[in-house]
Amino acid sequence: MHHFRYVGQKLHCESVDLAAVAQLYGTPTYVYSAQTMADNFSRLAQGLAGLEVQQCYALKANSNLALLRHLANLGAAFDLVSGGEIRRVLAAGADVRSSVFAGVGKTEAEIRFALEQGIFALHVESEPELERINHIAGTLGVRAPISIRVNPDVDANTHAKITTGKSDNKFGIPLAQAAGAYEAAAKFKHIELRGVQMHIGSQLTEVGPFVEAVEKVGPFAAQLKTRYGITYFSIGGGLGIVYRDALASGDPAWWAALPPAHRPLTPEAYGAALVPLLRPLGLKVLLEHGRYIVGNAGVLLSRVEYLKRGASRNFLVLDAAMNDLVRPAMYESFHEVVPLQRDTARPALVADIVGPICESGDCFAKARQIQQVGEGEHVAFMSAGAYGYTMASRYNSRLMPAEVLVQGSRFELVNARETFETMIAGEKIPASLRH
Ligand SMILES: *Cc1c(COP(=O)(O)O)cnc(C)c1O
Repeated sequence: MHHFRYVGQKLHCESVDLAAVAQLYGTPTYVYSAQTMADNFSRLAQGLAGLEVQQCYALKANSNLALLRHLANLGAAFDLVSGGEIRRVLAAGADVRSSVFAGVGKTEAEIRFALEQGIFALHVESEPELERINHIAGTLGVRAPISIRVNPDVDANTHAKITTGKSDNKFGIPLAQAAGAYEAAAKFKHIELRGVQMHIGSQLTEVGPFVEAVEKVGPFAAQLKTRYGITYFSIGGGLGIVYRDALASGDPAWWAALPPAHRPLTPEAYGAALVPLLRPLGLKVLLEHGRYIVGNAGVLLSRVEYLKRGASRNFLVLDAAMNDLVRPAMYESFHEVVPLQRDTARPALVADIVGPICESGDCFAKARQIQQVGEGEHVAFMSAGAYGYTMASRYNSRLMPAEVLVQGSRFELVNARETFETMIAGEKIPASLRH
């Protein structure tokens, strides 16, 4: 559920007419709904009621400072994967004492910084990393709190680029070797064993793989609790969102009308399946959902530049491109595209929806049926809040898009569109070439 809907014929985010945002700040612009994020956060908390839960929002889904502060205010901690992400949390006015630091390639500087900032735990992915952490903790005179990421070897049934819990992925330590890794870790002088972690993939829409993974790792977590006194089990993130019927899924009636077997995974169903498996362990449970918290809380606004009618296909050419929203090009993913101004009297149009970049991959949708829209009108890409801005680039020397946060009837620019001057600020022409 989310707070994007038509009021009359105009697409709104909460009580804000999105045409007003496009008018004031231009396009391409990401717009986020604060209320949708808060709802998603509390639905997850309620779905897992009965457990002691710490939600560590996965920053890589969307790391805008305003969103981070909003989530911190709601009680979130963070799942971090780089020194830059740690600095973002601090810049947002929060701390990382309940947050965790993951990733297969943590540098010395990042590990030191995380420990200095009092990170709740480092999620370790290999034995050489453990040695490095032990050494750095020794030089700082602290014991580094760690958990080992175990790879449960389950098939998350999602896109190959976002599955992480199979034994042939680069992530974690295979369950069969994990007991040995903990034994080795326990011998390090400057390491404190605090928990165990797993994360099997992203955009999961069925509960089965989560259940399978918890059933596999749960007994191991119980052993670790007995043997080393660990206090938590992080079950990762990965809860999927609705992309195909994204706009309709904002309405509770849409969910109610679906037969339960066809209903995408909800936090309630996720909790109902997992709480009975997790509760007997008596461990605190960490959640690391990113996409679920922000994915359907954001849209990308774009302007129609041209409607190019071809002999065999039509092309709707937008001012947004693959550099702004790379998911369709990278993961072949589907984003619903809807007009900001609905007009049911207009004929439908079948067109490829494309950006201006000189690359065939710069295509958001092929042969998509959409209400006819023309030059100067606007559309919104639904479900663009996660892995949208954070994966954006400047390809083709295009400026990074703007970001806007909506709260009720107010909206505010929370990241100004990049300027050409800042884009080239670090570049220089060597004196040897200046002639
Ligand atoms: C990416 C990631 C997440 C978040 O995944 P979502 O699908 O966005 O919920 C959580 N934990 C780890 C370790 C990750 O790498």
